[in-house]
Amino acid sequence: MRILLVEDEKNVAGFIKKGLTEEFYTVDASVNGEDGFLMATTTEYDLIILDIMLPDINGIELCRRIKNHNIKTPVLMLTAVDSIESKVKGLDSGADDYLTKPFAFEEFLARVRALLRRPTLMSALLKVSDLTLDPVRHEAKRGGQIIQLTWKEFALLEYLMRNKGRVLSRTKIFDHIWGDDLDTSSNVVDVYISYLRDKIDKNYSPKLIHTVRNVGYVLRED
Ligand code: CA
Repeated sequence: MRILLVEDEKNVAGFIKKGLTEEFYTVDASVNGEDGFLMATTTEYDLIILDIMLPDINGIELCRRIKNHNIKTPVLMLTAVDSIESKVKGLDSGADDYLTKPFAFEEFLARVRALLRRPTLMSALLKVSDLTLDPVRHEAKRGGQIIQLTWKEFALLEYLMRNKGRVLSRTKIFDHIWGDDLDTSSNVVDVYISYLRDKIDKNYSPKLIHTVRNVGYVLRED
């Protein structure tokens, strides 16, 4: 599950990102509305979290723009302004839920989970050949057989499948899955690819994970 967070206050953004990462969500963060808009319209997210007070375009306007772009991803609005007016404006702009700062992280997580469970996401089943991955139920199958994956393996497979046919460099994969984890050595990507191969490719055909020499990896059906 990949979440976009648009929040300019560094400590709030850091707190949210850390908390969500601990819950095994992948979080991309932006500190302003313009970058947030660019990210929301070029990457497929499962949830977008917008702060209302941003240095450039505000969260309400940003939400309207994103929804006008025909992006169906649910939006959770955050704001320090606890007024009926901003709540109504936020919901009118297409936001799916609303949370007033400061909030208890448990409540925030409950809202995140509720939004991620919405039926529009049920169709977000990823499929390449006879390999399927359901991000909502956290389930991977090959040839109809459930494959047991650790959280990191699952995140890696989801990333490869979302980028089906696209060659991903080790650096890109590392940044996406391990992010700020400075203690992790860079060959962790190769190690996890080999774990995944054992589970999803070894006893099946066709092989889906391909090595691109000196570059990285690609998941494709050939
Ligand atoms: Ca703010």
